[in-house]
Amino acid sequence: MTSTTTRTIQMVDLVGQYHRIKPEVDAAFARILESAGFIGGPEVKGFEQELSGHLGCQETIACANGTDAIQIALMALGLSPGDEVITTAFTFVATVEVVGLLGLTPVFADVDPETFLIDPEDIRRKITPRTKAIVPVHLFGQCADMGAIMAIAAEHGLHVVEDNAQAIGAAINMPDGTTRKAGTIGTVGTTSFFPSKNLGCYGDGGALFTNDKVLAGRIRQICNHGSEVRYYHDILGVNSRLDALQAAVLRIKLRHLNEYASDRNRAATAYDQAFAGHSHLRTPVRTGHSDHVFHQYTLRVAGGHRDGLKKHLEAHGVPAMVYYPVPLHLQKAYATRRCGKGDLPVSETLAAEVLSLPMHTELDAGQLAHITGAVLSYFGNIHPDPPTHNHSDHP
Ligand SMILES: *Cc1c(COP(=O)(O)O)cnc(C)c1O
Repeated sequence: MTSTTTRTIQMVDLVGQYHRIKPEVDAAFARILESAGFIGGPEVKGFEQELSGHLGCQETIACANGTDAIQIALMALGLSPGDEVITTAFTFVATVEVVGLLGLTPVFADVDPETFLIDPEDIRRKITPRTKAIVPVHLFGQCADMGAIMAIAAEHGLHVVEDNAQAIGAAINMPDGTTRKAGTIGTVGTTSFFPSKNLGCYGDGGALFTNDKVLAGRIRQICNHGSEVRYYHDILGVNSRLDALQAAVLRIKLRHLNEYASDRNRAATAYDQAFAGHSHLRTPVRTGHSDHVFHQYTLRVAGGHRDGLKKHLEAHGVPAMVYYPVPLHLQKAYATRRCGKGDLPVSETLAAEVLSLPMHTELDAGQLAHITGAVLSYFGNIHPDPPTHNHSDHP
């Protein structure tokens, strides 16, 4: 690749990525436009089969977006109003939103301070007689501790819905010695193909994964207005489908997914090396049980410097984002008496310290040097006060 230090640095560079696959995408789009087969059809079927093959699962069911996918999963499991669903508060809002829409009760478990992933021990503490499901989120590109979570679920007879919107393609080493792909271990897995996800289309898209043929049938039915035979509706459903143009893009990008994960890991390694041992920066900690596909590269910034660093970066042409500034139990729409300020101390601390740097498949050495230089120059300019907390302790 040519030197592109003058190219604007973006959180995600979808145009650069498109240019690498442009001939294939343009040809596929032209073919679909000439066929006028826009909904369903061979592109969607082909994509579902190819993604099942890539992930090693029995069934992939495409749908309209990742939020729908979680809602449809919970509908297919036949949960009833008042049933409790244990999930994380340090994530995107989608899970708790659909839990609320279905009249279910979200119950939040805290996360691990090192990996930001849901803490199995806290899941265990939050189980009540009303608990019916656990929704772990494979956050930022690495996987929740599925070995521990599946053991808890088996012990208590709970469903597990893996929200895999951020770690598609990541592999998990299970306690039985097998290696499985994220999203294929729980009762159901879900994902999103939002453009900026690791496997993103050029609009909205999502999918569900399961190894249970009966459940897969019910999921297909729910996606299609609760109907198996046209105009006969046996169960309550929704309208949630992937279109052929999106499926065509996804088939092309799926062939590059492993290479995309390597590109992201290369950028992550450059960041790791630049920030190793820094007094105020904690680089992402890898879990022992899964690989990392770096949907985000997220630092913890100690000493109250997160917002100052973010401003400094923006002034130096480096975008940076806070994922996520407010944990879900403190959001107005989801605050409950059962869980308030102070109840999820790790999630609350992370919300104040995390900062995600640009992470995508097109970052070159010049851009990475500019970004890391801008980060380090912030700390060169401030008074070298000690960090206010010890990263390795639970706050
Ligand atoms: C993006 C995302 C979703 C929602 O996906 P959409 O396709 O935007 O509906 C759900 N969960 C997580 C963790 C996500 O990152």
